[in-house]
Amino acid sequence: MPEPTVPVPSAPSHGYPGRLLVFEGLDGSGKSTQAALLGKWLQSGGHRVFFTEWNSSQLVANTIRRGKKKGLLTPTTFSLLHAVDFADRFDRQILPPLRAGYLVVCDRYAYTAFARDAARGCDPDWVRTIYSFAPRPDRIFYFQVPVQVTLRRKLASRLKINYYEAGMDLGLSDEVKESYVRFQTRLKREYDRLAVTDGFTVVDATRSVEAIQRELRQDLAPMLENVPTGARLMHDG
Ligand code: ADP
Repeated sequence: MPEPTVPVPSAPSHGYPGRLLVFEGLDGSGKSTQAALLGKWLQSGGHRVFFTEWNSSQLVANTIRRGKKKGLLTPTTFSLLHAVDFADRFDRQILPPLRAGYLVVCDRYAYTAFARDAARGCDPDWVRTIYSFAPRPDRIFYFQVPVQVTLRRKLASRLKINYYEAGMDLGLSDEVKESYVRFQTRLKREYDRLAVTDGFTVVDATRSVEAIQRELRQDLAPMLENVPTGARLMHDG
């Protein structure tokens, strides 16, 4: 896909007392594993942590499920429905704890839509405009990993490859595994591009769970010095 001729302005930072920490990457890159471990570590350090996942709003969950099941979604309606889901999640789940000074850990954020919708053929600038309500996070960890590694992990853990994850709706191949590799390769290309334009913190996600977790904690330590812990807040109050 050609580079956009006009550079897209990056979203403004949020300006709230909390911190927004985002985990992005392909399915099977290890995001959820690391986000859960980091959340526990932050809590044990006295921080107030709020954890949210992609696709977690009740508002459009049934519509998305039905649309997917019956093959009714086009790339545009797929994109718009997920944008509604994310807007609801942002207003109800992300913003209130951010305002209240929490560390908000997001397993996927708007960048998931930027990568997926572009890989489905939507215009990247159009998608960005739709998500312009989403402020820039304080950190975006990108779990970079070859597609073949995610496939191996999926097969090893017997996780099922689902229809949309494999991009089967795009007609790339009739064979699920082949379609998965082609679609996830497109996604990875988009993520690698976003890593540069949006200042992702790139994490080599092929390493051990422990090594990656160590790196995340080291990376965040300076930022956390300026965030009051829950215990200190209670004491000060
Ligand atoms: P994601 O949230 O990115 O889809 P998960 O954290 O659910 O990824 O991990 C997918 C699978 O890979 C799980 O079975 C998990 O145990 C395994 N896994 C996670 N991180 C690693 C790692 N660093 N090395 C090897 N396997 C991993």
